[in-house]
Amino acid sequence: MADVAVIGGGISGIACARALAARGISVDVLDRGRAIGGRLATQTLRDSGTPWDGRVVDVGASYLTADDPAFVAVVRDWVARGVAREWTDTFHVADAAGIIGPKLGPMRYAAPGGMRSLVVDLASRLPADLVDVRHPVDIAGPVEIGSGGVRVDGADYRAAALCGPDPQMLTLAPAGPVRDALEHSPTWEPVMSLTAVYDGRTWGPLDGVFVNDDAVLTFVADDGRRRGDDAPVLVAHSTPVLAAAHLRDPAAAAPAMLSALHQIVAGVDPDWFTVKRWTYARPTRSRDEDHVLDGVVGAAGDSWARGPRTQAAWVSGDSLGRALADRLAA
Ligand SMILES: Cc1cc2nc3c(=O)[nH]c(=O)nc-3n(C[C@H](O)[C@H](O)[C@H](O)COP(=O)(O)OP(=O)(O)OC[C@H]3O[C@@H](n4cnc5c(N)ncnc54)[C@H](O)[C@@H]3O)c2cc1C
Repeated sequence: MADVAVIGGGISGIACARALAARGISVDVLDRGRAIGGRLATQTLRDSGTPWDGRVVDVGASYLTADDPAFVAVVRDWVARGVAREWTDTFHVADAAGIIGPKLGPMRYAAPGGMRSLVVDLASRLPADLVDVRHPVDIAGPVEIGSGGVRVDGADYRAAALCGPDPQMLTLAPAGPVRDALEHSPTWEPVMSLTAVYDGRTWGPLDGVFVNDDAVLTFVADDGRRRGDDAPVLVAHSTPVLAAAHLRDPAAAAPAMLSALHQIVAGVDPDWFTVKRWTYARPTRSRDEDHVLDGVVGAAGDSWARGPRTQAAWVSGDSLGRALADRLAA
């Protein structure tokens, strides 16, 4: 049996496992998904009736930015190996009526193989003799505290790390400071992510569009330019209010999102579309602390480390892994 159970195979969980393994500590990463990656999510187009079946689309995080030195090093390594690419520093701004103009910002990084491939790459480079990444493994009950460590899903470990959205990790936290911290979580907002496949490009050279003051959309990404293959695929993110109104029936959010996408960017309807629901897409704010750790149970994710964004999830998971390693060595 491994030393530590890391529950959650998103980027925070894999960063935590990486930090533990770097100190020679063995880890089981347990994720309930069919694939690891969490909200760095990539879906494969299937049965779309378009030439793009088999192509992957980024339906979760749109891109990442990096200014933390340790995370910058990770991103540079991805870029050097072609796993990530510089996408753009220029998005456009729009309102409900259409595009207003370009806006310069930080460099946004994307992944030719889809954002999930970044997490898969990190996991693939962990030492196989120390880290076992298992999925789908749905941890149903709370971590139990024992005399010599913890019990997770009937197995004994020296410690456990809960890595992911607070509302999901709350159900796994034993009574105590970690659970208290997760109970005092920021509010988490839902998002609907609409993928739309077109016959061809009807819009100008746009990478991403921030949509302001609209009741339906907040952001639109050109997935073809993001991934670098120029496929005529747009991914639109809804406002939290629209998503909250359709959580039980995500497909019912499509008409309003398609209409807004038509008006603001495309000017035509797509040949095919699908909607993905994110019940816990992102916290409305995040904490300054990097993680919470009490004894041998800790929690990490993008509601820590000055998130919410991918970099914060990585920093949070990495810091929890290092703190747990110190704790286990003491
Ligand atoms: C629509 C959307 C757009 C976004 N856009 C951006 C962006 O442009 N830039 C940016 O930087 N960030 C963006 N983000 C945020 C970014 O995706 C997250 O910050 C990051 O992926 C969080 O990683 P994490 O490891 O903390 O959590 P997650 O990625 O959510 O990983 C948690 C993992 O835990 C697993 N899990 C949960 N419960 C259990 C259980 N009981 N048992 C086993 N496993 C479990 C899940 O399957 C999941 O894989 C976006 C997110 C969404 C949803």
